[in-house]
Amino acid sequence: MLIENDDENKVFNIAFRTPPKDSTGVAHILEHSVLCGSREFPLKDPFVELVKGSLNTFLNAMTYPDKTCYPVASCNDRDFQNLMHVYLDAVFYPNIYKKEEIFRQEGWNYHLENKEGPLKYNGVVYNEMKGAFSSPDDVLEREIMNSLFPDTTYGCESGGDPVNIPDLTYEKFLDFHRRYYHPSNSFIYLYGNMDMEEKLVFIDEHYLSAFEALAIDSQIEDQGAFDQVHDIRKNYPVAENEGEEDNTYLSYNMVVGQAKDINLSLAFEVLDYALLSAPGAPLKQALLDAKIGKDIYGSFEDGIKQTYFSIVAKGANLSQKEEFVKVIRDTLTKIAEEGIDKKAVKAGINYYEFRFREADFSSYPKGLMYGLDILSSWLYDDEKPFCEVQLLEGFEFLKKAAEEGYFEELIRKYLLDNAHGSILSLVPERALRQKEIRSLKRGWRIIAAVFLMKSLSGW
Ligand SMILES: [Zn+2]
Repeated sequence: MLIENDDENKVFNIAFRTPPKDSTGVAHILEHSVLCGSREFPLKDPFVELVKGSLNTFLNAMTYPDKTCYPVASCNDRDFQNLMHVYLDAVFYPNIYKKEEIFRQEGWNYHLENKEGPLKYNGVVYNEMKGAFSSPDDVLEREIMNSLFPDTTYGCESGGDPVNIPDLTYEKFLDFHRRYYHPSNSFIYLYGNMDMEEKLVFIDEHYLSAFEALAIDSQIEDQGAFDQVHDIRKNYPVAENEGEEDNTYLSYNMVVGQAKDINLSLAFEVLDYALLSAPGAPLKQALLDAKIGKDIYGSFEDGIKQTYFSIVAKGANLSQKEEFVKVIRDTLTKIAEEGIDKKAVKAGINYYEFRFREADFSSYPKGLMYGLDILSSWLYDDEKPFCEVQLLEGFEFLKKAAEEGYFEELIRKYLLDNAHGSILSLVPERALRQKEIRSLKRGWRIIAAVFLMKSLSGW
C-alpha cells in the first residue's frame, strides 16, 4: 500500500498475519528474535545500534493477537532507506536458523544462579510476560477476549503465557517463521514524501523477487455465535497486604460485528461516549447510583477481526454480579424505548470527527498511526483497504442515522438481544501467586532432571 504525499515524516511498515494456535508466545518471541541479527546486518543487536545512530522518529516492533508489525519512520531520506533495509533483511533473513542461542535468549532458557541454587526459567519474553500477567487490567483485557472467541486464534495468548512459554521448542519456533514470514503473507506499507518507484524497485530486487508466490493459510476464522451469554469467573493475583473486598472486576461483553464494517465501528465509539463517558452518561450514572464499583468505563475493541463492546465496573464485588447485569439491561432497555440523548450522541460524533480531521497523535508520526489503523481492515479483507483513513462519509452517515433511531436499534440488536457475549468476573485471590509459584517449583524438579541429561549429552 502506497500513500504518497508531502509529509516529510516518512513511514515504512511490514506486517505479517501471525495467528497463533497456542499460548507459547511464538509470535512474540519471533518478533524479538528477528531483530537479533540478519544476513546483511549480522550484528548481535542491530536494533540497539539502530536506535543509537538513527534519526528515526519511530522504530519498534509489535505483536498483536493476529499480526506482527515492523514499522519505522524518519524525516531523513538516507536514514529512512537504511532503516527499511535493515527491517526487510531482519524479517526475511534473520540469523535465527544459524543461532539457537537467539531463541534461548529471547524466548526461554534454564537459569542457575549457583550450583546449589534453584533452577529457574529465564528469557526476555518470558520475563516480560510474567510482568504482564501480574497486572489485573492486562489480565482482564485478555480474559474478555478469550471468553468471546474461545475457538479461534483469539482464544490464545499471542504474547505468551509464562506457564506455556517453556513448551515452545526451537523447531516449532523456526516453523512459525518459515510459514508466516513470507512475502505472500506480508502487508507492506509506504507513506510520505519519497520516490515510490525507487523504493518499490529496491524492495523487489533485494527481497521479494527471491521468493515464489505461495498460498499461505493465515486467514482468521470467525467465532461461531453462542446460544447464550457465557457466565465466566476468573481469578487474578493480589499481594498479601491487598484487600480482596471491593477489588473485583465485573464486565458485560458483547460481540458486535466485523472490523471492516467501519460505520458500525464508528457508531460504537460514539455509543461508548454517549453511554459511558459524556458528562452525566446514563449507564455510568446508573451503575454508580447502584453502588456497583468505584470506576465504570466502556471500551470498544476494533483491532481484531470481530469487534466487541465491553462495560466494566472496577472495584466491585462478586456478590453484585446479578445486580450489575440487571442495572445495565434495565438502563439500556429504557434508553432504547425512550430514545438516546441526542445531544450526547452529536457531541460524540463531533468529537471523533474533530479528532480524525486534526490527526494529532502527539509524538507519534501521522503516517505510522494511519499505517497501523489501516491493518484493522486490510488484514482481513482486500476489498476496501483504505476505509480506515476515509471516515468522513461515515460521520455524515451517523449524523443522519442518529435522527432515525439508528443508535437505539444498535443498543437493542447488539447489547440486549445478543447471545454472543460474556459476563466475566475477575476476582482477586491472595493465595493465587503462591499457588502458581508452588506448581512451577514442582515442574522445576522434573525439568532439572531433563536439564542434567541434556547437559551430559553436550547440549
Ligand atoms: Zn516484547
